[in-house]
Amino acid sequence: MARRDRALDPCYSSLTRKAIPTMAHSTKRTVLLVAAIGLAAFHERLRAEDELEQRWVYLAMNLQVADNVPKATDVIRRAAAAGYNGVVLADYKLNILDRVPDHYRAHAEQVKRLCAELRMELIPTVAPIGYSDGLLAHNPNLAEGLPVRDAPFVVRDGAAVLAARPDPLIPGGGFERSDGDAVEGWDMQDGPGSLSFADAHARHSGGRALRWERKEPGDYQNARVAKAFRVAPRRQFHASVWIKTAGFEAAQDVRLFAMGADGRVLSHANLGVQRDQDWTEHHVVFNSLDNETVRLYCGTWGLRGGRLWMDDVACEETALVNLVRRTGCPLRIQTSDNRDLVEGRDFAELSDPKMGRVPYEGSFDVYHEPPAIRILPGSRIENGAALRVSFFHTLTIYDQQVCCCLAEPDVFRIIEEQVRNVERLFGPRWYFLSHDEIRVANWCDACRRDGRSAGHLLADNMRQCVAAIRRVNPTARLCVWSDMFDPNHNASAAPFYLVNGDLTGSWEGLPRDMWIINWNSGKAAASLSWFRDRGHAQVLAGYYDADPARITDWLDVARRERAGAAGVMYTTWRQDYSNIEAFAGHAWGPNK
Ligand SMILES: [Zn+2]
Repeated sequence: MARRDRALDPCYSSLTRKAIPTMAHSTKRTVLLVAAIGLAAFHERLRAEDELEQRWVYLAMNLQVADNVPKATDVIRRAAAAGYNGVVLADYKLNILDRVPDHYRAHAEQVKRLCAELRMELIPTVAPIGYSDGLLAHNPNLAEGLPVRDAPFVVRDGAAVLAARPDPLIPGGGFERSDGDAVEGWDMQDGPGSLSFADAHARHSGGRALRWERKEPGDYQNARVAKAFRVAPRRQFHASVWIKTAGFEAAQDVRLFAMGADGRVLSHANLGVQRDQDWTEHHVVFNSLDNETVRLYCGTWGLRGGRLWMDDVACEETALVNLVRRTGCPLRIQTSDNRDLVEGRDFAELSDPKMGRVPYEGSFDVYHEPPAIRILPGSRIENGAALRVSFFHTLTIYDQQVCCCLAEPDVFRIIEEQVRNVERLFGPRWYFLSHDEIRVANWCDACRRDGRSAGHLLADNMRQCVAAIRRVNPTARLCVWSDMFDPNHNASAAPFYLVNGDLTGSWEGLPRDMWIINWNSGKAAASLSWFRDRGHAQVLAGYYDADPARITDWLDVARRERAGAAGVMYTTWRQDYSNIEAFAGHAWGPNK
């Protein structure tokens, strides 16, 4: 699973990409270390390295593909030779073992036998809480739903449609009128005449587009337009922009998003703009939450070389896109005199057939045409009648990440079934819970039922996930990513993406014997000591597609903090295994 998005969000600093000064050569390192810290401390250091009980490699691989089996074999053999003793298998197919073809099981058996032969622990990942597509493949309606309250609909020709707004929310979206290069209808435009230009030559529609181009040297300049407008709280909106580029170096950083009055970003889609592309439409969807005013931004925070044109920026209220239907996400349609319409009698059964199913089960898109509400003939609802529609919808984050509900009972039923299937396949001694980057949470009625904070909700989710695993395998060792349980990382009182409320306290759901896969190298001392004080053993998820020598500094911090770091994991998000030997050399030396 790609975690490119960990470095992309302009609103939250990345904790993992901070460069730490390193020394490249281990001999040089040894000499310098002995000189610097003295012999006694050096021996202590050697003991610390000797105590790296778990030495793992993170293998994200789809074993259904025959060509991947020799690749996995190669990684595992090389890792074993370099002194690793475990392989974490992150394979999406572990979520859907009930529907994989027979050859998948044959491939998995080969990997299992190889691990046994090489005495490598095989550690499967389960419980996809956060990146939940594997769970949602079983039921897309388990996605977390954000609430929409009283969206205004009107009945026309046997269907209820969203009542149109009289005025466009972005009147200057076509960039047709300007004073020189200063375009009309926007509250803010960076660098009119120096970075942004009204362009009559390249446009998507009408007479002009807005062109962004750096005329003077200087990198990473802001290149944005923004417009604030009034909205009703708890409604769904669709924004879009047409974009064309020519050698545009900041293509990956082009963003379109809405921000609430309190500064919370309401949409986090990666637009996927290419360095060179012809006119292409890009979409985002957001919920206004409690805001009565939102500000729409379009542009980049890192203008570099090349040119970008934008045209026909639009924003409109929408409804029922990625409509979630389940007990915790009730649909309610009422008349203007507060009469509830009955599904199946007044209106046809309503669902969004494209929600979580296109192009495959468990995959969601940012925007598509929403389903229509069909009024049934016997309903007595007349043409022109005004209706209020309340419902829940889900949202994608970055590249189609969708989070499942943390509380709906079916989530735990599916996880238990997943663990049962993985247990039959591998009979592992470890399970790796995948709680990670939970960015949408605590909105639906199932989550809000007991009025818990987001942190307490997550703590209870963890307890239930552990219980589900324990019912299948009462003695397996368990581990989980650190971020959602670390107050120095994502588990804080500060607003976190689209999580409703405070995430502190999430850690109360961790059993003491849960191992923490710590990836907070950016705040290493605080994070390591936090989990140390709570009695957890820790594995440092190092490498992260950067200098393999960085692990030595992190291990030094662990030693200083007496954090009992009992393991390291070679962690790559690019399937780059070229440095597994170098990483091993830095973490525990060549002769482990
Ligand atoms: Zn929920």
